[in-house]
Amino acid sequence: DTIGANLDRAVAAFGDRDAMVERETGRRWTYRQLAADVDALALGLLARGVGKGDRVGIWAPNCAEWILTQYATAKIGAILVNINPAYREHELEFVLNQAGIGTLVAAAKFKTSDYAGMIESVRPRCERLTDVVLLGTESWQRLLTSGREEAERGAARLAEIGERLSADDPINIQYTSGTTGFPKGATLSHHNILNNGYFVGELCGYTEADRICIPVPFYHCFGMVMGNLAATSHGACMVIPAPSFDPNATLDAVQAERCTSLYGVPTMFIAELAEPGFDSFDLSSLRTGIMAGSPCPVEVMKQVIERMGMAEVSICYGMTETSPVSTQTRSDDSVERRVSTVGRVGPHLETKIIDPETGLTVPRGVPGELCTRGYSVMLGYWEEPGKTSEAIDAARWMHTGDLAVMDEDGYLNITGRIKDMVIRGGENVYPREVEEFLYTHPDILDAQVIGVPDARYGEELMVWIRMREGTAELTAEDVRRFCADKLARYKIPRYVHVVDEFPMTVTGKVRKVEMRQRSIELLG
Ligand code: ATP
Ligand code: MG
Repeated sequence: DTIGANLDRAVAAFGDRDAMVERETGRRWTYRQLAADVDALALGLLARGVGKGDRVGIWAPNCAEWILTQYATAKIGAILVNINPAYREHELEFVLNQAGIGTLVAAAKFKTSDYAGMIESVRPRCERLTDVVLLGTESWQRLLTSGREEAERGAARLAEIGERLSADDPINIQYTSGTTGFPKGATLSHHNILNNGYFVGELCGYTEADRICIPVPFYHCFGMVMGNLAATSHGACMVIPAPSFDPNATLDAVQAERCTSLYGVPTMFIAELAEPGFDSFDLSSLRTGIMAGSPCPVEVMKQVIERMGMAEVSICYGMTETSPVSTQTRSDDSVERRVSTVGRVGPHLETKIIDPETGLTVPRGVPGELCTRGYSVMLGYWEEPGKTSEAIDAARWMHTGDLAVMDEDGYLNITGRIKDMVIRGGENVYPREVEEFLYTHPDILDAQVIGVPDARYGEELMVWIRMREGTAELTAEDVRRFCADKLARYKIPRYVHVVDEFPMTVTGKVRKVEMRQRSIELLG
């Protein structure tokens, strides 16, 4: 199936059910209304000369128009390019040129971001960019109305175009989070992301009765695939709690919309659980949800199950390059496994763990580099054949750069990223393990462990800590005492740095590269 054909099928089956709710404005769409707007927009884009394979950029915080643009471009086979809403001029210019974007749909402004102003200032240096449509202005309205006027003939026209699309066509360029360096543009097909969204939804047990609260950014695969595509391929409703993450608005959306599912990266759940007034929200409608994107602490998972009532919450592991999900816990896995592993490999996918030096598969229980293969592996990095062949080998295995261990029953544990592993005095330390232990300290809200250069041991461990409100700052001595006898001596952090916030990516990941640089400066 193509994404457009799949949406048409949802409309035929669930036409009068809620498809999308935007909390900030109170606007709502049934599947029939969603499809009507998607078609109008698709026709509007066609009328402006956008066609199959053309790149259409979307640069906006979460909003209904983001979703309309996602499906409208898919309908006509244009390639949607997700642009990080936190980007500034320099990064915008890079994406516009790298992806060869001809049409850009963008918010005019949001909070401190003057999108319109930044677009105008880079425009002279972006020759391919011929058309800019600003949301909430006349240019967007014109696009929709020009499509609506065409509606009669339009339906036939879209059907004809749909016939000529193939599920293997590239349909989306998504940039990775940029956690370890410069973001890379993964080129994905209908087949890649539609199947991935569908299977994620299957394993969450979605039906048309589900209402999914999506506070994670749409520009990232977590939002647009695991959220939007999982929803529409099962007739579920997408609830947009706020344009950008806001813990209070998220809890409020769950309560007001009786959401059955809630998504988030670990830091979002941590913020929601720590939200003043948390106990006053009625979250009893929640059944399931997904935590993913970075290591999911056992403690946080337990609280999500107990205090948020998300009995069936699952952990997903994946990466932008694999559409994204590769492994997922399922509701019939034991609770122990559901809070402490990333589950087993998903339907129609393969995984293996190799010794990164020799490339040979390691025995169960031995850590190594995780590789995945199957329908989900991207077509490649957009116009970067060199980087593509570094990541995907001749047998189509995607080398993830993540360290993992597989147990006898096929459950995986992500022990960290190859790049984050610390080697202290010849011993491998997985920051993840130390972080998990520190989360059990009652005063610690969040802890991130990194390696810093050390003359004697090569590397030493440093931990950045965020304290719970109203607790005293921990010293290096306190941390040492807490870890003594519970962690091997070489895993106990030598340096402690207490902060209010960690440097983060917009997708809610901790930027350890930046932390390492700042730590080196701190230690002088
Ligand atoms: P970049 O590739 O630009 O450095 P990134 O890898 O963070 O950034 P994404 O594609 O958004 O960009 O994230 C994929 C990565 O997120 C995985 O490779 C893995 O390291 C991490 N990750 C995702 N889910 C989990 C999880 N459940 N547990 C641990 N790590 C996870
Ligand atoms: Mg990556």
